[in-house]
Amino acid sequence: MNKSIQLLSFFASSKLIQTSMNECMKIKYINKEISYEFDKNKKYFLYIHIPFCEEFCSFCSFHKFKYNKNDCKRYFKNLRLELLKMKEKSLDFDTLYIGGGTPLIDEVELLNTIEYAKTLFNINEISCETTPNHINADILNNFKGLINRLSIGVQTFDNKILKSTARYEKYGSSEQLQEKISKVVGVLPITSLDLIFNFPSQTKQMLITDLNIAKNLNVEQIITYPLMSSKLKNYPTLKKLKLLKNSKEFNLYSIIKEELSNYIQNNAWAFSKNNITLKDEYIAENNEYIGIGSGAFSHINKKLFVNAYDLNLYEKLIKKQSNTIIAYTEEFKMKKYLQYQFLVHLFNGYIHIDRFNKLFNTSVEKTLNFELSMLKLIDAIYIKNRKIIPTSFGQYLSVIMMKEFYMGMDDIRTQLRKTIKS
Ligand code: SF4
Repeated sequence: MNKSIQLLSFFASSKLIQTSMNECMKIKYINKEISYEFDKNKKYFLYIHIPFCEEFCSFCSFHKFKYNKNDCKRYFKNLRLELLKMKEKSLDFDTLYIGGGTPLIDEVELLNTIEYAKTLFNINEISCETTPNHINADILNNFKGLINRLSIGVQTFDNKILKSTARYEKYGSSEQLQEKISKVVGVLPITSLDLIFNFPSQTKQMLITDLNIAKNLNVEQIITYPLMSSKLKNYPTLKKLKLLKNSKEFNLYSIIKEELSNYIQNNAWAFSKNNITLKDEYIAENNEYIGIGSGAFSHINKKLFVNAYDLNLYEKLIKKQSNTIIAYTEEFKMKKYLQYQFLVHLFNGYIHIDRFNKLFNTSVEKTLNFELSMLKLIDAIYIKNRKIIPTSFGQYLSVIMMKEFYMGMDDIRTQLRKTIKS
């Protein structure tokens, strides 16, 4: 494909998401209780946020607090209260994703909370994130039959990068990490490793070494996502295009695809040894989800709702009212909403035209006619058997757009952090 068209499409994709985020994600704060309407017959996806970390990593913008044993225990207690409130609303869930922070930071509380959630709801799939500090076979054995997929945030096995991101002292050297992980592979049905690519000092060879180590550890799934920061964000367009011309990110993404070509691609950045159904991105997997815990987002009826960031306020609200929402967005405009859904479905693998139309009561070929024509023109998608399928280049575009989406969410988190008083 013509290099200039390719560069323009990189630029247009990130611009599209930035514009949509700016238009759709205008947060409105509230000072009285509001709630969302939900369909009692629908099974929503449940997300639980555990916002505690022992130490902070230099590149991370997630909602988190420094770990304190008492605060953390109190928090888990409040979480269970919030779960009960969901039950009282007659909600049910079949899938649970536990993210952080560091969910396994207090494994006894986590175990109690998962067991409690399972008594309330018909949950049959649980994914849980963790840092390398909290993996050992004795602890994980307690979660057998509960957690289906454990996602370990390794990020890299390169000692230099581990040192420069302040992870070497916290989580150990590359060799220590490998030793630890090798002892827990197989304890739970799926062990998944998160690796970041495109660190500023990362070379092609460093990435290949990371991937080879992950493959040799024999984990069921490898997730490779790009560093969620963009030096391009504040540059003028011309400068941006010049920088993209030698996009290291694109080259590294191509290497990942090549190195993991024997794996099954679950979505644009997840690869598994076998055909597993549990994927890594709950946002991409689920149209609507309900978030529990401080700083969690819920996506219902084309709106986003945000739970209290401040831990004291979170506790106060959970005791006083039926939810802990402090802010929300207006209902997304249909066109923007469809563009967003189109992106997440494309990121996820492909779009089944008839199913997409039925799900969103639309005709994607008409409503997104311009977008489809452009994507075809730049060789990012093709249509076969009523499926819109991304090419390799299209997959990379969806990675860029997903990255822009997460970076947009980071900006929103920065705004919301200002509400933390305690
Ligand atoms: S442990 Fe995870 S959530 Fe905590 S600061 Fe590091 S990357 Fe962020």
